[in-house]
Order: sequence, then C-alpha cells, then structure tokens
Amino acid sequence: MDQAIALVALSEKDLEIVRATKKLSELPEKHAILEVRHKLREIEAIAEKATLYVAQLEAAQKRAEDETATISAHIVAEQAKVDSGVISNHKELQSLSREIDSLSRQKDKKENEVLTAMEKLETGRAQAAKVAETIEKGHAKEAQLIERFQSIGGALQREIDLATKQRATLAGVLKPELLARYEALRVSKHGLGVGVLHGLQCSACRIELPSESVLALNNAGVPIAECPSCKRLLVIGMENGS
Ligand SMILES: [Zn+2]
Repeated sequence: MDQAIALVALSEKDLEIVRATKKLSELPEKHAILEVRHKLREIEAIAEKATLYVAQLEAAQKRAEDETATISAHIVAEQAKVDSGVISNHKELQSLSREIDSLSRQKDKKENEVLTAMEKLETGRAQAAKVAETIEKGHAKEAQLIERFQSIGGALQREIDLATKQRATLAGVLKPELLARYEALRVSKHGLGVGVLHGLQCSACRIELPSESVLALNNAGVPIAECPSCKRLLVIGMENGS
C-alpha cells in the first residue's frame, strides 16, 4: 500500500477510535446509572431511618401494653381484696377504693397511649412500605439501564476493538520513521497528525496557504510534506481523500 494512502487511512482510523471511545465514555446510560445509584443511596438512608422509627414505635406500643396489663392485674388484685370481705375496717376500705380509682385513671391513660402508639405505628409502617417500594422501582430502573448500557456499550467496544486491529495493520505498512513522526504529531497536535492538501487548504488546520507555497509543494513531487502553517504531515496530490 502507498505510504500516503496508508497514512491518511491510519489517521482516519485513529479519529474513528477516539470518537467511539469518547462516545462509550459519555453514553447517557452511564450517567443515568450513576444518578439512579446516587438516588438509591439517599432513599436507602431514609429506609434505614424509617425501619428504626417503626422499631421504636413497636417498642413504645409494647411498653404501653405491658404497663396497662400490670395496672389491670393490680386493679383485679385490689378489687379481689374488697370483694373478699376480709377487710372490714371502713377507712381501710375507703383507702383501697381510692387506690382502685387512681389505678383505673392510670389504666385509661395507658390505654390511650397504646392507641396513640398504634396510630403512629400504622402511619410509620405505611411510610416505610412506600420507601421500600421506591427502592424496588429504583433497582428495576438501574437493572434496565445496565442492560441498555451493556448492549450499546458492547457494540461500541466491538467497533473499537475492530478499528484498533485495523489501525495496527495500517501502522505496519508505514515506514518506522514516518510512523514515529505521525505518532509524535498526534500527541502534540490534539490527536490529529495529518492533513491533506485540498486546493490551497490544509484539511487539518483549515488554513488557506499562500499560493506560492502550494505551488512549491505540488512541484516538489513529494507525496508527504509538512504543512507550512500547522507543521503537521501534509499529504499532497490526494484531493478529496481519494
Ligand atoms: Zn495545516
């Protein structure tokens, strides 16, 4: 293969690889996956708090129920004393009766606490369930995005792999000095090491060269020269990349 043709083809292949690699790293699915994961982490932190809150409410309800049961048992015991007729002392009976009244009031208060705790618990559990549902939906969305990313990204990666093999073949055609110069220019010139002379213009820097320079380049009879403007390799006599 002609050195100039191989050089231009290599440059085009390299640009193709750069474009595909950039596209792969900027796939919108990648950004979307990161965004979903970020949101999931936030919601999971909320879920943790919700679980803790529900556990606290359950403990509060249990505590109020236990206390109610203890008071109830106390009332039953005191009432049994009254009912047994063992205590005949009027003052003692009165005191016992007051004690039972006081315990009944305590019991009412505790029963209200149980009801309040139950209501709060119901609300808390509903909220926790909603959070869990949001997390489930988030994971489904994440899985969907990953599948899409792998499908599109896989195709791009295969494209890059193929182009990389092709560029190696083209690089093998070039004389070592020319390849080395091309590689160095590619590094120093933002990835583009070669221009083609189209009329008066270098296709790489798009500068219109003085006509006397172009005339000299055309007359030199060298297929690969240097652009007087951008100093890249300049292919002469290959109009429109043909
Ligand atoms: Zn140029």
